Amino acid sequence: MSTLILDGKAVRDARFTELKARIQALIKPPILAIVQVGDREDTNAYIKAKITFGEKLGVVVKHIKLDEKISQHELVAKVRECNEDENIKGIIIQLPLPIAIDQDAAIEAILPAKDVDGLTAFNVKQWLEGREEAVLPATTRGVKELLEHYKIELFGKHAVIVGRSMLVGKPLAALCLNENAFVTVCHSKTADLVSQTKTADVLIVAAGKPRLIGAGHVQKGTTVIDVGINTVIGEKLEDEIPEKKLVGDVDFEAVKDIVSAITPVPGGVGPMTVLALFENLADLCVKG
Ligand code: NDP
Repeated sequence: MSTLILDGKAVRDARFTELKARIQALIKPPILAIVQVGDREDTNAYIKAKITFGEKLGVVVKHIKLDEKISQHELVAKVRECNEDENIKGIIIQLPLPIAIDQDAAIEAILPAKDVDGLTAFNVKQWLEGREEAVLPATTRGVKELLEHYKIELFGKHAVIVGRSMLVGKPLAALCLNENAFVTVCHSKTADLVSQTKTADVLIVAAGKPRLIGAGHVQKGTTVIDVGINTVIGEKLEDEIPEKKLVGDVDFEAVKDIVSAITPVPGGVGPMTVLALFENLADLCVKG
């Protein structure tokens, strides 16, 4: 049987009209505030993607770009300003923040009702408990909707997650657990990664390590969800001008003929994450 390619871009495009209608039905165009500290190239690219998609939906995206040397106090004050602006319906603090800033304290400054990334303590408790009304972090919601679209069940399955960050790995593990999967979480201290990934029915990789997962890590029949986005530069010897290229944490070419379903990078989880972010915003608008 041929491998099913889980096409996040196609699913996102198919859902666009419905989401746009939800946004247009609101009394006023909602504002999404994106607070960025510094000027990282990768962060700029993620924000640009959110602005472009948001504008197509009719969301006003307010990009608040702050100096890298901003103090904790000033950042929190900026977030509180957004809390108080009733036209702003969702707030994102673009991560990672410079190391001098206490990331948790900055996130906690966001009102839970505007926490479109689902990362405040209030929302974390909600998604850990598997509450229906929880604001799921966008990547996790995106993965959930992609699996649902392709009717891939988590119930009773062995889900292996590689990565345990608060932004991606942990909420994905909570999702799988709440969907009644049996869950294994691997990380950089996992002694024998292969022995874990080889037993997965559903393998979700969010390590940020280009092509960490190869043919030897997977078994027949597994569904592979590759969350990783890594930029690699000019790999082919014949390339005169090495070009930047996006690759996942999974070696797609090596793995694709073994497993039963797999997400490409780009075009898999990335587009679903952006869609889910604005679905979260639409939900918050209705609740607020
Ligand atoms: P982090 O760096 O915060 O976390 C990476 C996790 O992977 C850590 O838990 C780390 O373990 C683990 N890890 C690292 N190396 C290995 C290894 N060799 N074996 C096993 N585990 C390992 O990254 P994020 O969670 O923020 O992001 C992960 C990836 O997902 C990145 O490529 C990022 O760009 C991408 N991403 C993609 C999104 C999308 O929309 N597609 C959205 C968000 C992120 P330890 O805890 O021990 O350090």
